[in-house]
Amino acid sequence: KPNKRPKNILKLEETVVNRIAAGEIIQRPANALKELLENCLDAGSTSIQVTVKDGGLKLLKIQDNGSGINKEDFPIVCERFTTSKLQKFEDLNAIGTFGFRGEALASISHVAHLTIITKTSEMQCAYKCSYHDGKLIGAPKPCAGTQGTQIVVEDLFYNVPTRKNSLKSPSEEHNRIIEVVTRFAVHNASVGFSLKKLNDNGSDVRTSPNSTQEDNIRILYGHAVAKDLIKLQVEDPGLKVKVNGLISNVDYSGAKFTILLFINHRLVESTPLKRALDSVYAIYLAKGKHPFVYLSMEIAPNCVDVNVHPTKHEVHFLNEDAIIHKIQSSADMLLKAASTSRSFAVQT
Ligand code: ADP
Ligand code: MG
Repeated sequence: KPNKRPKNILKLEETVVNRIAAGEIIQRPANALKELLENCLDAGSTSIQVTVKDGGLKLLKIQDNGSGINKEDFPIVCERFTTSKLQKFEDLNAIGTFGFRGEALASISHVAHLTIITKTSEMQCAYKCSYHDGKLIGAPKPCAGTQGTQIVVEDLFYNVPTRKNSLKSPSEEHNRIIEVVTRFAVHNASVGFSLKKLNDNGSDVRTSPNSTQEDNIRILYGHAVAKDLIKLQVEDPGLKVKVNGLISNVDYSGAKFTILLFINHRLVESTPLKRALDSVYAIYLAKGKHPFVYLSMEIAPNCVDVNVHPTKHEVHFLNEDAIIHKIQSSADMLLKAASTSRSFAVQT
């Protein structure tokens, strides 16, 4: 009926709003883990241990040996938009740390049971704090602990049944967690990482704090990948970009394309870059075979919109086409040189 009276608009309850917003930021355990690992690195950790149960859905525990969290910050650390990394709006342009929105811990506290155990160098003992919907529950409890922070996330999405039901396979979630930790471990070779399942003796990832990126690629991706990686280096002051990478040689052919891409030390994805590289390798590899590529790009922070929103894994940056083209032709040159020296070696 044309003159039907519209329904009245009601304001949603704040906890419901927060839960919905949090579910957008934290989409699955691997997302939450990525945010938490970035926090550990921001805190200057050299050792990060991850323990999970049921693909992180039951338990996600991250222990670091970083700075710890100051006691006076306990009540606000899980509130939305509280951060120690950004003071004013202009800082966004020069952000050097990973987090800058102060939303990760807050979001997690809306969709999981969150406990933080932390100790700074100034504290006599560690403190254990529990959080719910952004707020500290009860008083912080003194406890034993070494310097650093342990974040415990339990029963992720217990109060978001639709999301929980969509994450059916703990083993798939576990595999995504392995991928995240593996990538962080390669990129941050001077940090020791470990990943294990709760109550399991073996670990899925283990690197030592004094290994090289090549060491870690060998340990985590195998000797076939690591045996003759080519160093790729591109620097272009005009494009304000610096790229360092390790890419597989023409002798390596993987069943799928493994790409580890970090831009300004954030783990991201770029489909155009991936395509550009795959097309170069297509010249050298057999049909249906793919390379291993690790690239670390540094771009002037004001030229990249990395993680304007935490769910945006796909990244865009200024001069994207030109930069991708540069990386592509550099890879082509390196592979060409490698393949001619190989055929030369075969002939003689
Ligand atoms: P952001 O990283 O964007 O600041 P988060 O919600 O991820 O927001 O974290 C909020 C704050 O909590 C951080 O700014 C930092 O001060 C503190 N924090 C979180 N994790 C750690 C950690 N592992 N070690 C030390 N401080 C931490
Ligand atoms: Mg953060």
